[in-house]
Amino acid sequence: MDKKDYYEVLGVSKDASSAEIKSAFRKLAKKYHPDVSKEPDAAEKFKEAQEAYAVLSDENKRKQYDQFGHAAFNGNTGGASGFDFGDINLDDIFEGMFGGFGGFSSGFSGFGGFGGHSNRPQKGQDKVIRIDLTFDEAVSGCTKTIKVTLNEKCPDCNGEGGTDPETCDKCHGTGTITVNQNTILGSFATKTTCDKCHGRGKIFKHECARCHGTGRIKETKEIEVKVPAGVDTGNQLRISGKGDAGLNGGPNGDIYLEFYVEPHPLFKRDGNDVYLTLPITITDAVLGNKVDVPTLDKTVKLTIPAGSKSGDKLRIRGKGIADVNTGRHGDMYIVLDVVIPKKLSREQKKLFKSLSETDLEDSSFDKIKKYMR
Ligand SMILES: [Zn+2]
Ligand SMILES: [Zn+2]
Repeated sequence: MDKKDYYEVLGVSKDASSAEIKSAFRKLAKKYHPDVSKEPDAAEKFKEAQEAYAVLSDENKRKQYDQFGHAAFNGNTGGASGFDFGDINLDDIFEGMFGGFGGFSSGFSGFGGFGGHSNRPQKGQDKVIRIDLTFDEAVSGCTKTIKVTLNEKCPDCNGEGGTDPETCDKCHGTGTITVNQNTILGSFATKTTCDKCHGRGKIFKHECARCHGTGRIKETKEIEVKVPAGVDTGNQLRISGKGDAGLNGGPNGDIYLEFYVEPHPLFKRDGNDVYLTLPITITDAVLGNKVDVPTLDKTVKLTIPAGSKSGDKLRIRGKGIADVNTGRHGDMYIVLDVVIPKKLSREQKKLFKSLSETDLEDSSFDKIKKYMR
């Protein structure tokens, strides 16, 4: 992931209080607000801080982020994710700052919207795609074909938007214009996307008919992805450069695949280890036996030691799931569950009765006996 950790962005610890988060953001916003900061990458830094704050200041979003990381918010996954960074309440934050800077409305028209589009190269949007897998698919790896709708470079104009460009006379090629906004706090100058050239900084004599001069078209494509063996719910895989096309010559965004693995009716996963609860008969528990046990790939013989009881754990080394990074297999644990028969034949009853007449007790019964009154 090349996205920075939100806590790092704000410079707070993972258990920071909401007051600490707010104050950290306030400091950064003051420092990097593009209308006041002289730092060259102020807009970028400000955006970063704004995004981090939008998430960490919201209890629910923060929880999602703690659990899923950035994937929780990139949208397009159909899950609990995807939200508008624009819903951050900045009035609250900027109250009293910049002398009551009231004209944020156009600048803060949503995440990434500060100052409108500029004609600088911008990386295309990342996409997060949720992929549902069966337990077996996750264990063995598989190939999946996914459908994704992307903003692609327009092939007709090669992403240019048209031919015979001229510098936009309204914004002088910057893509942004300064407008005066009258608010109850007074008149303020804010930057916004140039409405004449839509932020491109240039106007075409011959605008591309296919993309209407935007240089990009929406396209739904099918992509084949190789899912490595061993992925687990919440794991992400980045497909570099396959997201939205960049703007103004910027690089393409990335695609993040996020996996959700269906539970298995029998096997329970814990990291790369697999647990199986195995019912065994009372006689196998007492006398021991060799029994068949299903594992992830095949059935194996397992020796149940004499004197086993419910809850005893037997390990089968290397029969767990392959680590998605190293390929090393975890182990399989068989948890014994001694099944006490509820229905006995006359013959069986007789056998148990004669068994009960023998001395089955051992030292573990002594302690209880001591407290019998
Ligand atoms: Zn075009
Ligand atoms: Zn313009």
